[in-house]
Amino acid sequence: MSPFRIVIAGGGIAGLTAAIALRGPNRHITVLEQSSLNKEIGALVSLQPNASKIIQSSWGLKNELHGAREMVDEGFRIYNTDGKLVNTIPLLARTIYGSERLLFHRRDLHDVLKEAAVSPNRKGEPAVLRVASRVVGCDAVAGIVALEDGERIEADLIIGADGIVLRKHVLDSEPCAMPTGHSAYRLMIPTKILEEKEPEFCAKINPRDPFTSMIVAHDCRLVMGPGRQGEVYGIVALVPDDQMNEDPHAKHSWVSKGDLEKMLKTFADFPTWVTEIFKHSPDLGLWQLRDLDPLTNWHHGRLILIGDAAHAMLPTQGQGASQAIEDSEALGAFFEGVTEAPSFHALTETLEKEQNIFQTRYARVSLIQAYSRQAAKPATDKGAKLVKMKPDEFMDYNCKYSGAKQWRLEQLAN
Ligand SMILES: Cc1cc2nc3c(=O)[nH]c(=O)nc-3n(C[C@H](O)[C@H](O)[C@H](O)COP(=O)(O)OP(=O)(O)OC[C@H]3O[C@@H](n4cnc5c(N)ncnc54)[C@H](O)[C@@H]3O)c2cc1C
Repeated sequence: MSPFRIVIAGGGIAGLTAAIALRGPNRHITVLEQSSLNKEIGALVSLQPNASKIIQSSWGLKNELHGAREMVDEGFRIYNTDGKLVNTIPLLARTIYGSERLLFHRRDLHDVLKEAAVSPNRKGEPAVLRVASRVVGCDAVAGIVALEDGERIEADLIIGADGIVLRKHVLDSEPCAMPTGHSAYRLMIPTKILEEKEPEFCAKINPRDPFTSMIVAHDCRLVMGPGRQGEVYGIVALVPDDQMNEDPHAKHSWVSKGDLEKMLKTFADFPTWVTEIFKHSPDLGLWQLRDLDPLTNWHHGRLILIGDAAHAMLPTQGQGASQAIEDSEALGAFFEGVTEAPSFHALTETLEKEQNIFQTRYARVSLIQAYSRQAAKPATDKGAKLVKMKPDEFMDYNCKYSGAKQWRLEQLAN
């Protein structure tokens, strides 16, 4: 029996979870990652209940997540720019959605996923993870992936989890990720330092409390929470480009640096007990946020896009990584039981025909992309302090999810 050969471009959250979900007997899975994977950025990432349920229950990684020093988020606390707590929204996620909202250091989560993809102790053959392997193109119909060094790798199924490189093999014209008009600073501060040096901040917001705290103005906001079981405190500071004192057109990515003086100028209206803490972050990342209108298609021939490659979205609901994990679960579910190389016809049917992967995922993810844009709208009226934002506005739709096949059944029944 010929093995089912699966090549995944990109070893981020989407690529590694696809490898986990697709592991099975007689399957050869190769993950091609351009970087050396030893420098995942210092930032926190949240997994929403829809994704934590998949990782814990469907993939059996509950203990491993626990070992990655997860924190269970117990709710949102919202403050205005006078520093007044104006709303507390408890998150009864386990009761309502069957799983928790979990906070991680990105590196810890990435390590758990990498280990599960390549571990010899899980079902099927371990995936082979090749670092320093940059994909430059593919032949989606013939099933060939081309690497920068000239190597060509044959595949029955190609998964594009690499951001932008393979997109052009699916679409007639390549979409441009559009600046959204927002940028985000990312900071992470050791909690001990906050406790030693910033007692006023800690008296108002205990940085070890498992809550997401937000301080919101009309269109700037700080989203803050603990990670590594209280060892670090992460901050995402969202700001409209036109009110930012940095150059929004400079090349921004996870690794680009922000300027503390300029950030302080932008957040001058925020209480000093919070702006004082910014200087304690060893790194200050600045990222111009871009998102995509829903693509017209995610697949062609043997190739399917997943994760940010298929549906980059704003981080305002923390659903980007969670939607990548849902994509991977869908791949696992719809290829379940396939133990030899599928014919071209069988493979493309699974990717695109009604009741299969693309049809199941597309409408849901496109709506969550739209919700993420809506959640970026101003949090107060201009010049006013009354906070209108509701961070839990779309939670029911986003988080009541029990896997792709169940979702498909529910959609057909409605
Ligand atoms: C400010 C901010 C905060 C966020 N917070 C959250 C959050 O709390 N929760 C959440 O769910 N989401 C969050 N997100 C979104 C989330 O980070 C992404 O949606 C998620 O990382 C997407 O995973 P991915 O694997 O598709 O892409 P990536 O994580 O970008 O991984 C792509 C991988 O492909 C590799 N690659 C790229 N090109 C090639 C190539 N040519 N060949 C080989 N390899 C290649 C890259 O090196 C990388 O490792 C946030 C985003 C932002 C901007």
